[in-house]
Amino acid sequence: MAEWLGAEISIPDNDAPNGDYFRAQSGSELRLPKCTACGMFQYPPRSMCPDCRNKEFRFEAVSGRGTIHSYFILSQPIQAAFLPHPDAPIALIELDEQKGVGGGGDRTKQPNSARALRLVGNIVKADGSFEDPANVAVNKRVQVKIIDLGDGMGLPQWVLSDEPPAGPLWQVPGD
Ligand SMILES: [Zn+2]
Repeated sequence: MAEWLGAEISIPDNDAPNGDYFRAQSGSELRLPKCTACGMFQYPPRSMCPDCRNKEFRFEAVSGRGTIHSYFILSQPIQAAFLPHPDAPIALIELDEQKGVGGGGDRTKQPNSARALRLVGNIVKADGSFEDPANVAVNKRVQVKIIDLGDGMGLPQWVLSDEPPAGPLWQVPGD
């Protein structure tokens, strides 16, 4: 059984895109579905490429490096597993790969500043526990850390790196 924070993780058999995605993270590298026709990485995982309508993907490793694009602090946990972690930072990570590369029907892949690969995950310390919210800010650089969920699945999480920030730092105002 796969589990995280004491909660069972199960993905229905008929959800192949997500099942394939979490099973592809069983090692130490972040692996994303890449369209076998147009070559665009896609996230979230899905059954058809939104750029060219191809239905086949091959998982390939990416650098696992990125920037905090946005984030919030979990203040009112709904899922019981998060009740002991009311300050868990949840972030939208913009990967270094495919930033600004066109798509969305533009098969010539002309630059498109709106396009990026952005993944949702928690900001964690090296030991996998949640990072102190005081250390989290937009534009800080992060490196992926794959958490082993068991049963051949992994969960990509994010650790602050010592790289210089990608831009001005911004934090959620305190209350
Ligand atoms: Zn495609």
